Amino acid sequence: MDDARVGVLPFDRGPVETIGYLVVDLRSGMALVIDVPFQSAGDILATLAEHGWKLTAIAITHGHWDHTGDAASLAGATGAPVSIHRLDEAMLVTPQSYGFALPFPLRGMTPDRLLEHGDVLACGSLRFEVLHVPGHTPGHVALFERSEGILFTGDVLFRGSIGRTDLPGGSYDVLLDSIVTQILPLPEETRAYPGHGSDTSIGRERKNNPYILDYLDHFE
Ligand SMILES: [Zn+2]
Repeated sequence: MDDARVGVLPFDRGPVETIGYLVVDLRSGMALVIDVPFQSAGDILATLAEHGWKLTAIAITHGHWDHTGDAASLAGATGAPVSIHRLDEAMLVTPQSYGFALPFPLRGMTPDRLLEHGDVLACGSLRFEVLHVPGHTPGHVALFERSEGILFTGDVLFRGSIGRTDLPGGSYDVLLDSIVTQILPLPEETRAYPGHGSDTSIGRERKNNPYILDYLDHFE
């Protein structure tokens, strides 16, 4: 791994084991954080300091509280701009717990940048393409770094599963359509890093994910 160009460090934190990712362009030391679970900001800051990495941006895959919880703290400590898709902006500004009992208050914040499908988030030499993948929430995005073959899927696609669609703004058909039209066409060796659970590959999910297989069975 001496010539590795990118580092992907997961921070699995908070009451529902949400994973935020610190992604580093190792040559420049510039870093991007994708989702900021509760109780993750302190460890992310310590890791940045330990390596001398500079956080250049914070990207939020979608507006659910478990992915946005420490975004305001991390942004406040680093000055890194926070981006989210415009259709999930209201959830970042006014977080909702949807009946989930939380032992701490939710803190809203205003994003610095609103994302659209096709936007690019740059971090050193890395280029993260913004894919709009609604269905879990209306403004969910996945981030794809094509040259490294890495994809951050938030709560759209998990290893062997898919995101829930019973929360406000969710739609099973829209979610499966997003997966089939936006994610499955990516190269099968693409490494997919989800917001919960183990990482996987696009090829593995295309072959084994029961929700995808069932959908393709019925609609193709
Ligand atoms: Zn979610």
